[in-house]
Amino acid sequence: MAKIGKTDLDAFRLGLGGIPFMNLSFHQAREVISAAAAGGINLADTAEGYGDSEEKLAFALKPKRDQFIIATKSPTTDGKVMRKAIDQSLFRFGTDYIDIYQIQTLISLPDVLAPGGALEALQDAKRAGKIRYIGVTGHRASVLVEAIRTGNFDTVQAPINIVDRESEQELLPLAKQLGLGILGMKPICGGTLDNPALGLKFCLNSVADVIFCGMKSVAEVEENLAIVNSFRPLTALEEDELLAEASQLGKQFCRRCEYCLPCPEGLAIPKILWLANYKHRYPEREIWTEDEYRYLDKLATDCQECGECEEKCPYDLPIRQMLKEAHDELSPTPKQVAKRRLGKVIRRIRG
Ligand code: SF4
Ligand code: SF4
Repeated sequence: MAKIGKTDLDAFRLGLGGIPFMNLSFHQAREVISAAAAGGINLADTAEGYGDSEEKLAFALKPKRDQFIIATKSPTTDGKVMRKAIDQSLFRFGTDYIDIYQIQTLISLPDVLAPGGALEALQDAKRAGKIRYIGVTGHRASVLVEAIRTGNFDTVQAPINIVDRESEQELLPLAKQLGLGILGMKPICGGTLDNPALGLKFCLNSVADVIFCGMKSVAEVEENLAIVNSFRPLTALEEDELLAEASQLGKQFCRRCEYCLPCPEGLAIPKILWLANYKHRYPEREIWTEDEYRYLDKLATDCQECGECEEKCPYDLPIRQMLKEAHDELSPTPKQVAKRRLGKVIRRIRG
């Protein structure tokens, strides 16, 4: 346990990322959260926009609310909307205080700071005891640097991983110097790295006070706890392996930050891009990924090419082109289907 920056919050180095809870049942989420708590994890980060993740955390943490640090967030820049978001989070958590409430995926600092903006609402909530600390999260290091220079934030949350190295230049040293709590996210690049253990180790080697990792099973919790508890810095060989993977990934892959949403046509852009990437990396799961894709409400072919998503993507991804490629990757040709059927028949004959 160590203090998060200058706050009086004592946290374990590894924290629970809230996104995976959206895809778990209440019972499964409780199993994961209980295993995490039993292993010493005492901080979870979620968001009003992560489906019913807040409710699932609340359900699992009910008996131990006071032993757990809860961080959540809203992307609004408007004060009125932020006040409502805080009250709704308090209601969903069934608590009268939230430890860290953050402005999520900050893009426009002037809007947040303006009279009647989100910061005013957060400061009022802090004075009223509804929240204990004010944080800011984002994917653009330069915007976060501007934000923390204002002195209005207690914590800052940014991606820390082998691919996204921008925060190492100015953001992390400045946050450290100013005594902000540093919360690292996306240690395995949104689930993209082939060797998640090395990705987590890389992040553990940083100045982050806490590293949030999405964990969707008890096994994943145990694996990550083992890495944290026996932590040693990456060896030269491991670092080379990670760097090789990073250069293979390049910059053009989806980190699943969800900045691009909502798509006016209702496309689940990160999910589609993730499925294509997953199939590419795990060809043995091709049927599962293709089925997951086929049954989505909207397919990549429903994209109307309006370009809104590309304007919002902090990684400047050519999303329209990537969606087309994802569709090709996830839609087997009649020839491939026939080949698979033939393979099945041959395997059956061979017994
Ligand atoms: S370009 Fe396509 S995917 Fe992107 S927001 Fe427009 S319709 Fe949605
Ligand atoms: S496409 Fe860009 S904005 Fe959308 S989730 Fe991926 S990285 Fe984030």
